[in-house]
Amino acid sequence: MINVTVWNEHIQDKSQENVLKVYPDGMNACIAGFLGEETDFNVRCATLDEPECGLPDEVLDNTDVLIWWAHCGHEQVPDELVKKIHDRVLRGMGIILLHSAHYSKIFQSLMGTTCSLCWREGDRERLWNINPSHPIAKGIGNYVYLDVEEMYGERFDIPQPDELVFLGWFGGGEVIRAGCCWNRGLGKVFYFQPGHESNPTYHNKDIQRIIKNAVRWAEPAFIRQEPIDAPHVESPEKLLNK
Ligand code: ZN
Repeated sequence: MINVTVWNEHIQDKSQENVLKVYPDGMNACIAGFLGEETDFNVRCATLDEPECGLPDEVLDNTDVLIWWAHCGHEQVPDELVKKIHDRVLRGMGIILLHSAHYSKIFQSLMGTTCSLCWREGDRERLWNINPSHPIAKGIGNYVYLDVEEMYGERFDIPQPDELVFLGWFGGGEVIRAGCCWNRGLGKVFYFQPGHESNPTYHNKDIQRIIKNAVRWAEPAFIRQEPIDAPHVESPEKLLNK
């Protein structure tokens, strides 16, 4: 089983009518709902308003892949928690950052850059599959068309991705590196651009398929438990003399 924790700040999807219209039970319920269709995923939800932001050590220590959606509440996530999540990624945990999580402290911390981009609400997107043999693109056609999505455009201030899977094109002519993979220590990081809170993006079956694929791609084969240090290693000659 892959232990997946779906974290959402849960601010706009409990207070804004235009968001509740699209996600009446909140965005977490939608994302956890389609992930829960997979029999090898063990899915739980966590939100900012819970004690310890829903991520006490026992939850984080039992998470293989963390999904992160955030927008208004980035600053409310304590630095100490960000450090813990970063450390767990370095030890092997996978992390998937969705849409406005580009400005989250944890993404900025993992990237080491500002992660800024340009934006405009109310556009349409063609999400081009530019790496069809990549596991995250499995089952996806040449492109996914979203008739309403917020434009996020270049320059996206990220380090060069290790692998690029999707490229987004918008009605205004802007483009963005929309599906990007990085390795950080033993962990895998995927940023996926679609998913504005008042658009029905997470109801789209192709978008659901991509996020499910990303969970499987990011699943760690191994999570290091002990602290990372620089061990001294004996020379082979010394071992032979033992
Ligand atoms: Zn947005």
